[in-house]
Amino acid sequence: MAAAITRKPITALLACCGAFMVMAASPAYARTDDAALSASPLGEGDSQFRALFADWKSLDRNTAPIAKVSIPSQMPLEKATLTSDFGMRIHPVLGGRRAHKGIDLAAPSGTPVYATADGLVGMAQWFSSYGNYVQIEHGAGLETRFGHLSGYTVRAGDRVTKGQLIGYVGSTGRSTGPHLHYEVRIAGDAVNPLPYMVETTAQEAFALARGEGGKGGPE
Ligand SMILES: [Zn+2]
Repeated sequence: MAAAITRKPITALLACCGAFMVMAASPAYARTDDAALSASPLGEGDSQFRALFADWKSLDRNTAPIAKVSIPSQMPLEKATLTSDFGMRIHPVLGGRRAHKGIDLAAPSGTPVYATADGLVGMAQWFSSYGNYVQIEHGAGLETRFGHLSGYTVRAGDRVTKGQLIGYVGSTGRSTGPHLHYEVRIAGDAVNPLPYMVETTAQEAFALARGEGGKGGPE
């Protein structure tokens, strides 16, 4: 009997305490539930990041078509003989030392000529001493030019993909025999196309690398 009496206050205390704990726990539990609903283990900063990321993605969508750049990275012909290099040379028709703005790749008339990168055809027409001529824009001022073609299979405004047939070797315009005159231009300036006739991205990166640094040489 005495034991029963002493137990009562303890039970009452536990009951009281338990109720208090449930009451106290309720707000805390509610907060945890809110956090779970926002599905954010990193807290509020994470949802801000996600909103920002969504902005970046929409920005990317809006600018991607303009910013796309495709770097020429293959041979414009399957088999050819390099008959005239880029740079100063004695002109085969006009004579005298002149800057050759591309390279000459000799191949039989009718040999297929391929786009060397994705791009937009800027010109496909007769063009002065180039004869039948195709010009492709690749973004960021990069351009490829194909001269002396016997014919072409694209029109100005066409989108082309790397490796796509664009025309055939010929000897139209100022030419001594069937060959492709191939140019790569950056912002209008002719550059040596040879580094742009390789396939790997590492080779591309090396070909494109320009910068300040040590220079030297015996002369
Ligand atoms: Zn040429």
